Amino acid sequence: MIPDPSHALPADPHLTFARRMDRIDGLAHLRERFVGVDAGVEPPVLAYLDGNSLGRPTKASVARLTEFVANGWGTRLIRGWDEDWSRLPFTIGDQLGRAALGAAAGQVFIGDPTSVLLYKLARAATDAALAQGRGRTEIVIDTDNFPTDRWVLEGIAAERGASIRWIVPDPAAGVTVEQVRQAVGPRTALVLLSHVAYRSGFLADLPAITSAVHEAGALVLWDLCHSVGSVPIDLDACDVDLAVGCTYKYLNGGPGSPAFGYVRADLQDRLSQPIRGWAGAQDPFEMGPEFVPAAGIRRFQSGTPPVVGMLAMQDTIGMIEEAGIDEVRAKSVALTEFAIALADEWLAPMGVVLASPRDPERRGGHILLRHPAMRQVTATLWQHDVLPDFRSPDALRVGLAPLSTSFAETHTGMAAIRDVLRGILLGRSGLLPG
Ligand SMILES: *Cc1c(COP(=O)(O)O)cnc(C)c1O
Repeated sequence: MIPDPSHALPADPHLTFARRMDRIDGLAHLRERFVGVDAGVEPPVLAYLDGNSLGRPTKASVARLTEFVANGWGTRLIRGWDEDWSRLPFTIGDQLGRAALGAAAGQVFIGDPTSVLLYKLARAATDAALAQGRGRTEIVIDTDNFPTDRWVLEGIAAERGASIRWIVPDPAAGVTVEQVRQAVGPRTALVLLSHVAYRSGFLADLPAITSAVHEAGALVLWDLCHSVGSVPIDLDACDVDLAVGCTYKYLNGGPGSPAFGYVRADLQDRLSQPIRGWAGAQDPFEMGPEFVPAAGIRRFQSGTPPVVGMLAMQDTIGMIEEAGIDEVRAKSVALTEFAIALADEWLAPMGVVLASPRDPERRGGHILLRHPAMRQVTATLWQHDVLPDFRSPDALRVGLAPLSTSFAETHTGMAAIRDVLRGILLGRSGLLPG
């Protein structure tokens, strides 16, 4: 028999709890600034559980994009580059550094797609280590990292005659400080790790791991794709060398919005990146015979900055500054705690396994739920406007973007997962009535 709590209880105490949490949530008012979320209006999506993969747009971004096309691009035309646009990658970078990265001005820029920026910074760091000629020929990464991260580094190793040293983490957790200590040494050039693991949601100990890498004399590159905008980050205080992160996840920059890169100030002029485009040159309009890299962070730029792509993220960065990243994190923890409590009570009896850390100190903004039926569960939920995502072979991922997700929405989503899974286990598909 599959237990059925919704029939056993007269009223759902979890829904009462969710509504109370929404009433006392100091960030609840920010949710209404997103498209598709209006009080008293039937939402087009019942529960959006994938804001960690593609964030919702803000209403402010609708206005900002319209205004840019009509008046910015439309009337300033080519003059816009001198007036504003060419500085935008750096002014937004500085604002992001302040709001969410713990980075002083002049170290962050908005650039290329994540995969390309990861290549540029990893390659620059590897080249610098190899150029020392002291046998630092190993790049360290973990087997559970995102495909781009693994494949880009394998490509760099092949290009430069370096080798990869693999860390094999617990798939329901992530890379530990101890594992990094064992993997690094006098042969290490670079360590690349994700701050929050894209599958398990494990939150790596960034300060301790950064110190361990530095004690071995190597550089560290942090992938912040799944942490920026939901977990506080202190790049300067932790002495991080390099970082890259997505802007279309928790920063709501829109599909394919360009990534940000961080290069520690004192490292910038010692590194050279491999894509020598005119926009990274000292004087782009000199257009002379030789490439002379710009001083500072601009040397990591390659081509014309993707200005249209970096418009929307500004509205979320502003919202994070307004709310405070520590408040955002507190809500994120409360949301994942709530989802885990519901998974324990509703889903565990049906054989669902939580494959994320239970300790909130070691967990980011999403959780992973495993069950052999999750592929079918996800497909059915999408037909009913409940949108989690699926990660092969058997995992449903629940991402809870703290600025745009309410506790009631989390409750709706988790209850839908419960009902669809129960229906499938009972040999039916679709949502059960009631
Ligand atoms: C989302 C994500 C990426 C995505 O790279 P794109 O080039 O933007 O497609 C890379 N790495 C990690 C860890 C991610 O979570």
